Amino acid sequence: MAMLELSQVHAAYGAVEALRGISLQVEEGKIVTLIGSNGAGKSTTLRTISGVVPATQGTIAFRGKRIETLQSHEVTALGIAHVPEGRKIFPKLTVAENLEMGAFTVKSDAAIKQTMEEAFARFPRLKERRNQMGGTLSGGEQQMLAIARALMMKPALLMLDEPSMGLAPLVVEQVFETIRELNAAGVTILLVEQNARQALQVAHRGYVIQNGEIMLEDEAAALLDNAMVRDAYLGS
Ligand code: ATP
Repeated sequence: MAMLELSQVHAAYGAVEALRGISLQVEEGKIVTLIGSNGAGKSTTLRTISGVVPATQGTIAFRGKRIETLQSHEVTALGIAHVPEGRKIFPKLTVAENLEMGAFTVKSDAAIKQTMEEAFARFPRLKERRNQMGGTLSGGEQQMLAIARALMMKPALLMLDEPSMGLAPLVVEQVFETIRELNAAGVTILLVEQNARQALQVAHRGYVIQNGEIMLEDEAAALLDNAMVRDAYLGS
């Protein structure tokens, strides 16, 4: 059984149908990427999984449990963390306070402190800046903070929406390295990216989404070699 399984999921914004029957699977321990052009429905897919946008048809199962009717806080409590497009950190809170906000499913102060120390061990730059306002961090540091905040609830599945967006090439490399390390540490990852080449290089499996529909799915290495994918998404 896949950890996450979407079957014929539809979603809409008013009269605009953004997802038109999405089926995809994320196996435990893997990195799965969803690539596609602007407006294809990538962010909407993540929002529908996390219960921010309701599914109008179809089913979503997480570890065999149906979740498509749950509220977003209930989805989070099951172990699905969502790092939205644009990071959405709290600019007027310090780095440490941002991390505390991510730990809202964690009950004990001791556990929060321990998890924060783990976050600081993984992201030393955040430790140096623990008392700095989130809004004063660089773009790359804000992305690291957004990821670290999501990790505070120790998710089984981490969903990342365009983590490389707007970052300098060297920082993009660091973000993808972090994704690799987290996966090696046991976190299953569903990654949405416009940066298709790097996403497919880090992922095990990939899905190509177009106009709210999955048009292709395969092992990531095979998609990197696929002529249509190369023409449309890899610029070669
Ligand atoms: P991008 O990378 O540009 O964010 P995407 O693949 O993530 O693209 P979505 O953001 O999921 O695409 O958008 C899918 C469709 O839904 C688009 O046609 C978009 O215009 C529409 N849409 C997205 N958000 C909203 C919204 N809040 N209200 C109305 N329509 C929306």
